[in-house]
Amino acid sequence: MIETKGYATHGAKEALKPFSFQRRDVGADDVLIDIHYCGICHSDIHQARNEWGQSTYPMVPGHEIVGKVSAVGANVRGFKVGDLAGVGCFVDSCGVCPSCREGEEQYCDQSPVWTYNAVEKDGKTPTYGGYSQKIVVKEKYCLRVSPNLPLSHVAPLLCAGITTYSPLRHFGVKSGDKVGVVGLGGLGHMGVKLAASMGARVTVFSTSDKKAADSKRLGAESFVVTRDPGNMAALANSFDFILDTVSAPHDINAYLNLLRRDGQLVFVGVPEKPIEVQPFAMIGKRRSMAASLIGGIRETQEMLDYCASKGITSDVEVIGVDRIMEAYDRTVKGDVRYRFVIDMKTL
Ligand code: NAP
Ligand code: ZN
Repeated sequence: MIETKGYATHGAKEALKPFSFQRRDVGADDVLIDIHYCGICHSDIHQARNEWGQSTYPMVPGHEIVGKVSAVGANVRGFKVGDLAGVGCFVDSCGVCPSCREGEEQYCDQSPVWTYNAVEKDGKTPTYGGYSQKIVVKEKYCLRVSPNLPLSHVAPLLCAGITTYSPLRHFGVKSGDKVGVVGLGGLGHMGVKLAASMGARVTVFSTSDKKAADSKRLGAESFVVTRDPGNMAALANSFDFILDTVSAPHDINAYLNLLRRDGQLVFVGVPEKPIEVQPFAMIGKRRSMAASLIGGIRETQEMLDYCASKGITSDVEVIGVDRIMEAYDRTVKGDVRYRFVIDMKTL
């Protein structure tokens, strides 16, 4: 077994603190990664604080993992010692259900094995995430990372990047489409960059005017402060596609009303409480609503390669591990530009 240091929480109301645990030895199909950086996703906070009601402790969060390969098993062909590698939100899946066979492992019928707050396929070993020094992962669930991008800025692509890239591709967003991105946080700012890179004309919907100047720099054409209902009414029936990344309860009907006929709203945010939908906000214009979960391994690799070819990365604030709790509190307040990333050297 491999002794590993990390940061864990031991309960919904506990602060994260240093935690020692063991990773499995490197098996024939495994890659050992020395973790350099791990992003802080709002999903880490929801789960650390048990806001989705399915948390187990101790929990080492973190699923935006990048680092360097330090050992590989005998069967590994795609990675060698010294390569950069990434790990996202899951580390295993059944491999035989229709979703797995189609490369959409995130929708695995038996549920993927999440990178943390889950149990390995052996039914007993808890998974621990990226707020740690090392991780052992099957090669099949490791991603190749370009050496041409700054590594700390790449980490958030493993969740925030793929979670926004996948629905933009799946729902066919194309050049010239009018796209709204609701909430300018970790996911939102990647949604803006990616949609703009595909030629979409992007509008950001944000709760205050504080991020207006940034939104233009990220690639948005316009910026709407949602607290003023007049701003919203003026945009009725005009959007092809809206990506909702908000992490807290909010009025989804206000956004449905902004879609043109047959327009689509896709939400990726997962607020603690259910969202109320008013059918009238949809039927008058045959609008539809869907949701999307991260992306499969093949598409995550496609997104990483796409970002490398276009020079797209996340805007990050790199912190030491001792600042995780401050980062959590600031993320919940929407006070992050636009992703906290932990420098694992500080562990
Ligand atoms: P984040 O960085 O905290 O961003 C969320 C943004 O939502 C904030 O920056 C803020 O934007 C807006 N917001 C927050 N509270 C709000 C409120 N009460 N009313 C209106 N807007 C509010 O979070 P994130 O890491 O991007 O994650 C966003 C959500 O997506 C979380 O629920 C997370 O669990 C979920 N998620 C889902 C997937 C998936 O696969 N579907 C993957 C990763 C994360 P403004 O400051 O611009 O208003
Ligand atoms: Zn995430």
